Amino acid sequence: MSESKQIQRIGVLTSGGDAPGMNAALRAVVLAADHYGMEVIAFRHGYQGLLDNDHTPMKPADVMHILQYSGTVIKSARCQRFKEVEAAQEAAANLDALNIDALVVIGGDGSFRGAEHLSAHWGGQIIGVPGTIDNDLFGTDATIGYATAVHIAMDALDKIRDTADAMDRVFIVEVMGRYAGFIGLSSAMAAGAERMILPELQKEKPLTISTIVKHIERTNAIRGEGSYVMVLSEHQWPGGAVALAEQLEAEYHLPCRPCLLGHIQRGGPPSPADRILASELGVHAIELIREGVTKVMAGMQAGNPVAVPLRDTWEKKNPLDSNLLRIQHEIFNPVKKTPRTH
Ligand code: ATP
Repeated sequence: MSESKQIQRIGVLTSGGDAPGMNAALRAVVLAADHYGMEVIAFRHGYQGLLDNDHTPMKPADVMHILQYSGTVIKSARCQRFKEVEAAQEAAANLDALNIDALVVIGGDGSFRGAEHLSAHWGGQIIGVPGTIDNDLFGTDATIGYATAVHIAMDALDKIRDTADAMDRVFIVEVMGRYAGFIGLSSAMAAGAERMILPELQKEKPLTISTIVKHIERTNAIRGEGSYVMVLSEHQWPGGAVALAEQLEAEYHLPCRPCLLGHIQRGGPPSPADRILASELGVHAIELIREGVTKVMAGMQAGNPVAVPLRDTWEKKNPLDSNLLRIQHEIFNPVKKTPRTH
């Protein structure tokens, strides 16, 4: 490993929507930094903490037994003001005054845009760690928090299925993922949902209420009367799950109930996969700092740690798994009858 300069002090922050595993990533950053003889200063409330000089030293003793908790012990925030040039300049001056050589930003694409913005005004190294339940970043097989969010959504869908089945009802379960349907697709597949309404599919061909009703009728005709569970990504239907359920009841007399999972998807114990991914990526971020690189995300591809240019993480597309989509749509829940080949 070639070290370009002796890094002595690094900063770390968690930014944007909190994600299960952020604490595990923070712990890994602190333990790895300590291992390599670096000091860590944590900024509270994301970029807001950089502007307010709200920081605290972090030593291994400060991160004991935090990896099993969701949320983030150093707090996260959205900070609109950070988008201004003056704010980035202020943050740069604050980092310099603290003699910080490198900054680790744990967050999603917005947080990485913030990191890039800061880098135009600050000479230190900046490394991103992908911490978001959305899984919408290019360059890493998964983001920290995604696996846990899918697990929670699947668990809720299983429970909904019990009651939906008992009453032969239609349920619409609203999940997070306003811009990307990863949680919707994976939880629908894992729980055997009959239909998904995802941003990627809506962009291609928006569903109409009559198409939804036809699919419910067709499913009932094939399998007999029973439950029908639909996974709806947030903001993909005017008025969301509640409005869609009301419409189906009022216009088509279908017994239908909405269920909004909301922020439940961000809490509880992070899954083993998220704890392990966060641990690996936190250490990888520190090792990338030692290599002298900057403006990259510490990612994971096919089990290997990689460095991906920060800009690529939001400029390049991370598409949904087309095979999962095909299986869910064409094989498990076909809209049209597939002609038999023999
Ligand atoms: P998630 O999508 O999981 O909520 P995120 O990191 O994408 O996470 P955002 O709210 O989009 O969350 O961004 C977090 C913060 O990053 C913003 O509140 C802001 O402080 C900063 N940020 C976002 N976009 C920019 C930008 N273009 N320039 C500077 N800073 C930005």
